[in-house]
Amino acid sequence: MLRDSARGFLAEKSPVSALRRLRDTKDKDGFDRDLWRGMKDMGWTGILIDEANGGSDFGHVGMALVCEEMGRTLTASPFLSTAVMAATAIRRGGNDEQKKKWLPAISDAKAIIALAVDEGRKHAPEGIALKAEMAGNAFKLNGEKSFVVDGHVADSILVAARVEGEPGNKEGIALFLVDAKSPGITIERVTSVDSGNNARIRFDNVNATGADALGETGKAYGLLENALNAGRAGVSAEMLGIAGESFERTVAYLKERKQFGKAIGEFQALQHRAAHLFGEIELLRSLVLAACVALDKNPDGAGTAVSAAKFKACETAKLAVSEAVQMFGGMGMTDEIDAGLFMKRARVTQEFLGDAYFHADRFALSQKF
Ligand SMILES: Cc1cc2nc3c(=O)[nH]c(=O)nc-3n(C[C@H](O)[C@H](O)[C@H](O)COP(=O)(O)OP(=O)(O)OC[C@H]3O[C@@H](n4cnc5c(N)ncnc54)[C@H](O)[C@@H]3O)c2cc1C
Repeated sequence: MLRDSARGFLAEKSPVSALRRLRDTKDKDGFDRDLWRGMKDMGWTGILIDEANGGSDFGHVGMALVCEEMGRTLTASPFLSTAVMAATAIRRGGNDEQKKKWLPAISDAKAIIALAVDEGRKHAPEGIALKAEMAGNAFKLNGEKSFVVDGHVADSILVAARVEGEPGNKEGIALFLVDAKSPGITIERVTSVDSGNNARIRFDNVNATGADALGETGKAYGLLENALNAGRAGVSAEMLGIAGESFERTVAYLKERKQFGKAIGEFQALQHRAAHLFGEIELLRSLVLAACVALDKNPDGAGTAVSAAKFKACETAKLAVSEAVQMFGGMGMTDEIDAGLFMKRARVTQEFLGDAYFHADRFALSQKF
C-alpha cells in the first residue's frame, strides 16, 4: 500500500522531468518546497518519528520503500538529510526538550536539517577534525565541512565536531545542532553532477552551548553512526530504485528497438546481460530489506547489514546504469534519454555515505576477515 501510494504520488508530482526543470532553471533551492509539503501530507517527513512527536513511525522498511520510489523518479528533496538522518539522531540522542522542539518541526516540514560530517573528498566519519573547544561555558566551533547534503537550504546544521583526540579516533566526537544563520557560519552551495544539493560550510568561532549538544559530548560517535546507518540504508534503497527503473526502461527498449529485422531483445547476447542484471537487482533488494529489518530490530547492531546493502547498491546501481547507456546504443549518450540522468545520480549516490570499498572494508572488519 505504501509503495503504491508513493509511486502514484511521485509519478504525478515528481516525474524525472521535475529534476530536469530544477536543473535547467538553476533552481535556487534545488528542490520543490511544494513537493516537500506534499511529502509531509503523505506522512513521509515523519516516517521515522514516533507518533507522540507527530510522526507516522513506519520504521526503516517503510522508509526504504519511499526511498526506492524516489530513486525511480530521481526525486530531489531533503528527505534523507532531514527525515532520515537528522530525525534519527534527534530521536535517539536528543533530550526531552530537544525532541519536543525538533521532531514535530521535522514531521511538519517546518525544519530542514543538514548533517555535516565529512571534511575531505571521501566519506570518513572517524576523520573529523573540526574542533569544538570550551570557551567559558560554551564551545567554539572551528573548521570546515564538505559535501553537506542540503547544507545551503538548511535551517539548522547538525555538525559533528571533535572535543578531544586526533582525527581517526572514534572517541572525542560531539554532535551539535546549530542554527544555520549563526554568526561565523559561511555556506557555499556546490551543485553536484546529478544537479543535487551539496555545500561547503566554514565554521569560524561558532558558538554552541551544552543545550545544542545531542547525546553525550565526546561520546557521540555511536549516535552519529546511528544517523549515518539510517541514511546509508535509505540511499541504498534509493539506488535500488535507480537500478530497477534503469533496468525496466532498458528492457522496454530492447523489446521496441529493431535492428537486423528483429527486436534487439531477441539477441541472446543482450538477453544474458539483462538476466544477469535482474539477478543482481534481486540480490540488492534482499540486502536492503535485511539492513532495514536489522535497523528496526536493533539499530546499534545493524552496521554490518547496512554495509552489505550499501556495498551491493554501489556495485549494482553502477552496473544497471552502465548497461542502460550501453543497450540504448547511441541514444543512451544523449540528454534526450533519461539514462544519463540515472547514471549521474548513481555516481553521486555511490560516493554518498561511503563507497563500495569503504563498506566492503567495514563488512570485512566486522566479520574479522
Ligand atoms: C559518442 C558517439 C559518437 C558517434 N559518432 C558517430 C559518427 O560520427 N557517425 C556515425 O555514423 N555514427 C556515430 N555514432 C553512432 C554509432 O555508430 C551508433 O551509435 C552505433 O553504431 C550503434 O548503433 P545504434 O546507436 O543504432 O544502436 P543499436 O544498433 O540500436 O544497438 C543498441 C544495443 O544493442 C546491441 N546490439 C545491436 N545489435 C546486436 C546484435 N546483433 N547482437 C547483440 N547485440 C546487439 C548494441 O551493441 C547496443 O548495445 C556515434 C555514437 C556515439 C555514442
